[in-house]
Amino acid sequence: MVRTSSKKIPIVILSDEEDVYTEASTPSKHTPPLASKLHRNGKSIDSVSAQSKRRLCMCSEPDGDMRFISEPDIEDYGYFLRKKKPKADNNTLLHLFRSKRGLFVTDVAKTEWCERQTEFSLFSEEWKSNEGKRVGFGGGRRNNEAIKAGRNRHVQLQQEVQTLVELKVKSREDDMAMKLVNFINGVNQLVFDGLTRELPILSFAFAQGIWMVGQIDEVQMPRAKKDHNPILVEIKTRFQDTVPLEAQKRNGRIQLMCYKYLWNNIVAHAHHDFPCKQLYDYFELNPRRTLSKDLQAACDESGFTARSLGDVVRYYQNTCKMLAPASDMLVLRYESQRDHSVLYEEKVAYDEGWVKSEIESCLELWLGRREASFVAEDEQWKCGYCDFVSECEGYTDTDTVSTQSLASE
Ligand code: SF4
Repeated sequence: MVRTSSKKIPIVILSDEEDVYTEASTPSKHTPPLASKLHRNGKSIDSVSAQSKRRLCMCSEPDGDMRFISEPDIEDYGYFLRKKKPKADNNTLLHLFRSKRGLFVTDVAKTEWCERQTEFSLFSEEWKSNEGKRVGFGGGRRNNEAIKAGRNRHVQLQQEVQTLVELKVKSREDDMAMKLVNFINGVNQLVFDGLTRELPILSFAFAQGIWMVGQIDEVQMPRAKKDHNPILVEIKTRFQDTVPLEAQKRNGRIQLMCYKYLWNNIVAHAHHDFPCKQLYDYFELNPRRTLSKDLQAACDESGFTARSLGDVVRYYQNTCKMLAPASDMLVLRYESQRDHSVLYEEKVAYDEGWVKSEIESCLELWLGRREASFVAEDEQWKCGYCDFVSECEGYTDTDTVSTQSLASE
């Protein structure tokens, strides 16, 4: 691992959106995105506007012809979805929506929440480019305000330990390098300061043979000096000061365990079988391509010299080599959006068998091996918070949805 000195602040580069690592689109070859770089302890944040991110999202999938229809109505989604249901291997959800991007951890969580809603939202997101219309997971438009407040809180938490600064990326290689440098700097911060936030994670899930990506809210080093296993923390914010329902907690546990699963995969393969070739092949990257001046400067400021993506990947691998597996004890925390008080906190025991089965169940849908299922009968209250209720064939009951409180996360 490289660090400039004990006093010099390393740069952590922040992606322009949760693009490669979470929900938003990967940068286009044709329209290089703005990106951000992040300095710890700096003074200001210049995040890319949501407008530009959405525009990229709409332009970034040259192979996705169905995603460029303009001015759609939400009522059209059901028809659209029925017409475009994946049929061949190269027409699966994974291929259509996560090609060269990897499966997001949030995809696994969303799929567990409601498979049919996941399908609807994947197709609808391609149609929606307006922030006001954008469909959110598990809450719908009525909860846009709460979702925005949750995002703001996460930015606030990140700014407590890091500072975001924009930089431009000019190629897919730049974009990948940016994420890896983010990870490297986040790990440096974890090691030296004992804590980091919004840590991007990119890992090849060997058992499933797919790339998965995510962003861990917080990673802490344990207080006990003899313990070297980092503790992963997922932070949810709630609009209402209520304890989350069991379905929500279960969903949060899956997300957390996915992060741990990916973390352990990276660590386990850091010394042997590090999947460099798979990385370049899957994301269609040229390891010898020269990085932009901005990226090269960012690497310099982070304390290592890199002129190409291949250079960054070597530092990335070295960083992974120094990591210990994440702690088997994970932390799921819910806090109030009103005053940030902790409403509920759970220490979650890692269950690898369970999380693997959840990922595999998710993949059955994403690889087109079966049809999407609807929510279970005892969880039909979820439908009351779903934007696609008028389109959904699985929704039948109107009485069960209003009595439960699904506070926004
Ligand atoms: S209405 Fe209910 S079953 Fe249908 S997609 Fe929405 S949450 Fe799922």
